[in-house]
Amino acid sequence: MKTKKYSRAPSDAQDRISVKPTICYPIDSLKETNLPILHRVRKNLENISEIIIPPRDAKTFEVKKGQFFRIESIEGPQVGDLNIFQAINLEEKFFSGKTRALYGTHLSTGDKMLSCFPYLRSLATITWDTLDWYGYDKDGGSVHDVIGTRCDPYTSKLLSDNDYHYCCHSNLTRALVNEKGIKIDEAEKLVHDVLNVFMCTGFTNDTKQYFMKSSPVRPGDYLEFFAETDLLGVLSTCPGGDCGSEHSSDNVKCYPLKVSIWSASQDLLKDLTSSKISSYSRNHGLG
Ligand SMILES: [Zn+2]
Repeated sequence: MKTKKYSRAPSDAQDRISVKPTICYPIDSLKETNLPILHRVRKNLENISEIIIPPRDAKTFEVKKGQFFRIESIEGPQVGDLNIFQAINLEEKFFSGKTRALYGTHLSTGDKMLSCFPYLRSLATITWDTLDWYGYDKDGGSVHDVIGTRCDPYTSKLLSDNDYHYCCHSNLTRALVNEKGIKIDEAEKLVHDVLNVFMCTGFTNDTKQYFMKSSPVRPGDYLEFFAETDLLGVLSTCPGGDCGSEHSSDNVKCYPLKVSIWSASQDLLKDLTSSKISSYSRNHGLG
């Protein structure tokens, strides 16, 4: 945190501080043309399956390329922590950091869930967000962040010396072990920084610390995605519930979440630009 200042400011400090910011990764060059097509297609989706994730737990789900999936609040305000992988190659997984660098701290309609290096392509596009009306609040907070990584037992142990087993990190690990038959060490390495679905977060103005406030999500709200490759998803119902007070404990009321899978007319999807794995040579200057 930049709250302690031991060094003396140079005489031109104000000049240096007042330079204008430049967007690091302008996305204008991406020429997004898929969203209008996806918005036409989503008017005629067919529900083909759904699963309910109980409170303080996680479950896996599979989505085929060309299908949509929704994460929906059903009984009360609840935050969900989402991991997604390419279904056949679990090494290709969601890259929260680069997604944040391109699309900002909080995602919504039209933003893409990018995969890690060396793939760096869109695994899924967000096609609808019933909470997009929230925008950014007066504290700079918003919904669906890619800044908070996930609640986990290691940070809980570090800060409060608790052994708590139902953090999102553990829930995601447990689902991969129990449902996909992956060994615990391997599963834990596959779990990655999440999309915090429905969570309302930001950075404080003074110290830029990560904050959370009660999620505005209510039953019936959903976040919808279009799968750009075959996907394995894992969703945890955060033990923080609506994440308005605390997490990493059994103290707050938690609710289930629903994941539903929807098929679309493949004929209507034929004009989409498909998501391709990065064409970078991977030479890295090595000749
Ligand atoms: Zn959590």
